[in-house]
Amino acid sequence: MSTLVIASGNAGKLREIGRILAPFGIEAVPQSAFNVPDCPEPHVTFVENCLAKARHASRVSGLPALADDSGLCVDALGGAPGVQSARYAGEPKSDVRNNAKLIADLKDVPERRAHYTCVMVYVRHPDDPEPVIAEGHWHGEIIDTPRGDHGFGYDPYFLVPQFGQTGAELDEDSKNSVSHRGQALRDLVSKLKALGRIG
Ligand code: IMP
Repeated sequence: MSTLVIASGNAGKLREIGRILAPFGIEAVPQSAFNVPDCPEPHVTFVENCLAKARHASRVSGLPALADDSGLCVDALGGAPGVQSARYAGEPKSDVRNNAKLIADLKDVPERRAHYTCVMVYVRHPDDPEPVIAEGHWHGEIIDTPRGDHGFGYDPYFLVPQFGQTGAELDEDSKNSVSHRGQALRDLVSKLKALGRIG
């Protein structure tokens, strides 16, 4: 088994990433196992923040690293909340206040198209000149009344027209099979395979 440091402490993400990479002989280990401190995320794009987190985790651990960054982008809001998704309504971060702000910002706005974006970056070492960058998008629209109690974040307000259900009405496996994060993870695996970095 080779070890890959995951620049995240989220148990759900670690489980999903670990499950997908295990068949390739890769053990996904959270960065907390290497005492990696939080990395600043000062950038305005997902990819820049993600690259910073991957390089940071690799530098501290001395191992290859994988980072992910994700958020909700609403067309009528010029892509906001974007990289600010977790803290859209300020500190301390709160899904309830973020959702309230989102719905207030969209008051009297009929155009409700939105998508979740997920970027994943894999580096072999901190100064890797060729990071592998994968991406996934999940399209939907924002509704005013929440539905469902699975998922997290903006899911109860994110309606997926294809299913007639919100992100919070889908169970974890169904969500992973269509979501931005699932797509990015599958894109990552196919890019790593094509580059011969995994077998
Ligand atoms: P992170 O990249 O997991 O830290 O996600 C950043 C923020 O984007 C979260 O705190 C949520 O507000 C939002 N977000 C990202 N992915 C999802 C999702 O699958 N459902 C709901 N909200 C999400």
